[in-house]
Amino acid sequence: MVYERRIHERKVPMRDGQILGYVHSTESFGAVDGPGIRFVVFMQGCNMRCQFCHNPDTWKKNVGTEMTTAEVLNKALPYRQFWGTDGGITLSGGEILLQIDFAIELFTKCKQLGIGTCLDTCGQPFTRRQPWFSKFEQLMKVTDILLVDIKHINSDEHRKLTGYRNENILDMCKYLSDIGKPVWIRHVLIPARTDFDNYLAQLGDYIKTLKNVQKVEVLPYHTMGVHKYHEMGIKYSLEGIEPPTPERVKNAEKLLHVEDYRGYLTNTTTTSRA
Ligand code: SF4
Repeated sequence: MVYERRIHERKVPMRDGQILGYVHSTESFGAVDGPGIRFVVFMQGCNMRCQFCHNPDTWKKNVGTEMTTAEVLNKALPYRQFWGTDGGITLSGGEILLQIDFAIELFTKCKQLGIGTCLDTCGQPFTRRQPWFSKFEQLMKVTDILLVDIKHINSDEHRKLTGYRNENILDMCKYLSDIGKPVWIRHVLIPARTDFDNYLAQLGDYIKTLKNVQKVEVLPYHTMGVHKYHEMGIKYSLEGIEPPTPERVKNAEKLLHVEDYRGYLTNTTTTSRA
């Protein structure tokens, strides 16, 4: 039976004494969703509306498959033999931080079982206001590593691109740096939106200020999700924009100093510059 209990004054859906999550889909053998091979859980719901989002079907909240944390674990555990020492479970989205209570409960169980935990987030829900911030602190105690997408370094441009400003997202990055939590930073390179040398250089400089970055990745914009917009009857804002050329991807990698972040290979944080 589904009922709700209040956790820190917010209603959280429950079943059989466990927190329920709204799951969009799962991937059994994720190879690009954190270190090693990972079972990836894509959660439903996102506040942002990134123009380039290739998963608009994850936007709607409180829909999808309702699963308890035990049900997710039971689905993931048969793949444990493939995870090795680096892999584990990644919670992604949508935006996983919108279901932070579910993430805390699932990752707490993972750590009790010795399973590696990775959070793939855009950071939009981050706030230092209580009670949310205490929950985030609790979640970080059971999270090994985060993949953080920085959509745009300029807050006005970030708002145009996603619908939200980025100050709190950069504040989350600073907090993660302060507590020494390992992160991989990812940035989608989009012609006419993010592919400008001045913004890329600013982002490169910003990342240099962080002390916890193990890896920086440039993700070239692609158009593979456009059909979903057509099927869902949503206007696609980047119509006519092509993926960046290999030269521009190389240029972005240079401006973001991608080569300098190799900590993930040795599991140590690298911040030095040649
Ligand atoms: S944050 Fe992620 S899921 Fe949300 S709109 Fe942007 S790309 Fe899509």
